[in-house]
Amino acid sequence: MLRDSDTIFALSSGVGKAGIAVIRVSGPRAGEALERLTGKPLPPARRAVLRALFDTEDDLIDRALVLWFPGPHSETGEDIGEFHVHGGRAVIASMLAELGRGEATRLAEPGEFARRAFQSGKLDLTSVEGLADLIDAETAMQRRQALRQMDGALATLYEGWRGRLLRASALIEAHIDFSEDGVGDDVIAEARAHLADLADSLRAHLAEGGRGEAIREGVEIAILGAPNVGKSSLINALSRRDAAIVTPIAGTTRDVIEVRLDLDGWPVLLSDTAGIRESNDPVEIEGVRRARARAERAMFKLVMFDATALPALDPASRSLLDERSLVLFNKADLANATLSMVDGVVARPISALHGTGIAEVRSWLSAELIRRMGRLEAPVFTRERHRQALRDCFQAIEACSAGQPPELLAENCRRAAFALGRITGSIGVDDLLDLIFKDFCIGK
Ligand code: GDP
Repeated sequence: MLRDSDTIFALSSGVGKAGIAVIRVSGPRAGEALERLTGKPLPPARRAVLRALFDTEDDLIDRALVLWFPGPHSETGEDIGEFHVHGGRAVIASMLAELGRGEATRLAEPGEFARRAFQSGKLDLTSVEGLADLIDAETAMQRRQALRQMDGALATLYEGWRGRLLRASALIEAHIDFSEDGVGDDVIAEARAHLADLADSLRAHLAEGGRGEAIREGVEIAILGAPNVGKSSLINALSRRDAAIVTPIAGTTRDVIEVRLDLDGWPVLLSDTAGIRESNDPVEIEGVRRARARAERAMFKLVMFDATALPALDPASRSLLDERSLVLFNKADLANATLSMVDGVVARPISALHGTGIAEVRSWLSAELIRRMGRLEAPVFTRERHRQALRDCFQAIEACSAGQPPELLAENCRRAAFALGRITGSIGVDDLLDLIFKDFCIGK
């Protein structure tokens, strides 16, 4: 039986051999564990001290830096003990075994430290998600977005809106209860003004949405073009490693191959799609269908043409050109590509094989990313969970039409406020908690 009153412990640093490993203990018996392993009284709060650590046989486990964070001023809100031991497997194994001997003390479940921080009010749900994103962050932009969310940028925004909704509903209720005592229509008008204002803010926030998710999950860039034009070679050149299989036989890249890339801090999901061409082979037809779907979804398209085939331009590829595209004339080492525009789209000569022009492609993408994504100054939501709740909130506010009786208005305000409360976790969200915390690793 796992209980919230248990004291929990875990290796919080990565698994495997390392210079230092951090082991944390959180809960009512954390202090006891610290005293037992060090054989000394607790060190002063939040000060690193060097201590010898012993097991029950009085055998020395290690000498380590030890920290004591008495609750409630700790990450979980509970008493926390922290051991910075040497990161060898035997040291870690002895430490975990020794801690496990404590009464009502057990290994933490994944995400249990963060869950306790949430339960003690140290973190709201969006901050918890920000923390999870920070641990997963692979690029600078992902790190920035995660940190901001962890620091409460979304929580502050949503709690602010929720407060305004609750105020509006209080005004309306005052009108319902005291309209005979002179709390009149001006109060309703004030509430309506609040609601109209909030509807605008929500509309704008929802419209910004995709950006936060794109940063979290990777901005999609599709590489398109006829078979053999050099798509796999371009992926290799951009990612500087042999991720895609480059082969001289036409039509062999039948599925969508994805490569994750850090492009000047932007997380990018490059897809090398099946060559777009007519075919009778069902596998290839499916590949082409996926390539088209990918092209529709992608934020940018790199559409490749064969410089050696000029002036002929592959019509299927040409039909994909739009304002999200950059044209690349590949194999420019073999033929001169002097066209600088195709159907109003900028064109560049490159040689994917020799790496010529690849730096320019990277800087074009980087500049476009900044242009499209902005500097992300305002906080943006980062998950489908947020989007759904924001939509519910928006719909509830939108439902407050002009002629509505005050009772219905108040009800819609509460519905809207409830939807926002679900995002931050300030109201009942038990069914959501398992979903959010299960993605954590143990020790967080
Ligand atoms: P895909 O079918 O579009 O993915 O094309 P690949 O990347 O597999 O390339 C097809 C063939 O063209 C391979 O033999 C490559 O070595 C060759 N190739 C690709 N890019 C260049 C280039 O810039 N110059 C030359 N000369 N050959 C290239």
